[in-house]
Amino acid sequence: DAEPILAVEAVEAVYGGVVLALRGVGLTVRAGGISALLGANGAGKSTTLKAISGLIRSERGRVTAGRIRWRGTDIVDADPSRLVAEGLVQVLEGRHVFPQLTVEQNLVSGAYVRGAASAEIAEDLERIYAWFPRLKVRRAAKAGYTSGGEQQMVAIGRALMTRPKLVLLDEPSMGLAPIIVEEIFEIVRQLNREAGVSFLLAEQNAHLALRYADHAHLLENGRVVAEGPAADLAGRDDVAASYLGGG
Ligand code: ATP
Repeated sequence: DAEPILAVEAVEAVYGGVVLALRGVGLTVRAGGISALLGANGAGKSTTLKAISGLIRSERGRVTAGRIRWRGTDIVDADPSRLVAEGLVQVLEGRHVFPQLTVEQNLVSGAYVRGAASAEIAEDLERIYAWFPRLKVRRAAKAGYTSGGEQQMVAIGRALMTRPKLVLLDEPSMGLAPIIVEEIFEIVRQLNREAGVSFLLAEQNAHLALRYADHAHLLENGRVVAEGPAADLAGRDDVAASYLGGG
């Protein structure tokens, strides 16, 4: 087996020096893979993604133990914008678009981190619009006036403007109608298969995530309690319970 693109080992993390949110998390994402991070509300999924991206520090959190290896180098305490430049980007839960900017301005904002030239930006925009035809139609609309599904697409599209190798995608289904969720997951699958983007997907809806992921990890109380090929986890009672308990 080739070395995974991302390897998290025995990571512990705290908020504000007191709240122990992660108590030993290990996971891997293989290059070209889709890994899922499952678990009920509060299990530590978001914290795991933020520990990887470095964004945990903007919430007065930090990694206190363990290792995070990104394409062979240790990235605990790395600067989040450096990681974005190296191809590792997080899409936050709850979408976080700039509501007063248009859909297109939101997308273009993703290109600034790598100081892209305007010809490149135009090219990348067309690529994003090919993946998300809805966004092309809505390009001039203020993002704050678009639907929840469209905002999730904007958030993912903006991340894609950084030309990522790995996208950390936090709870993309949250608050969206099932048909829109399927549309978004289908695009994720296409991005993975056709553009080679790897994903680490945090999702409370295990049933959904396991249909799209190739590998999965179940988190409980800040620990990984089960791990394996998605097809194997799909049949487990504790996975079903986490979904029912958290959904
Ligand atoms: P959710 O679906 O609610 O996002 P989650 O599995 O992503 O759940 P986390 O958000 O990672 O869980 O939360 C893990 C633990 O860390 C919880 O006990 C939560 O209360 C705590 N926590 C999360 N964010 C913070 C924060 N900014 N400050 C303090 N504690 C936090």
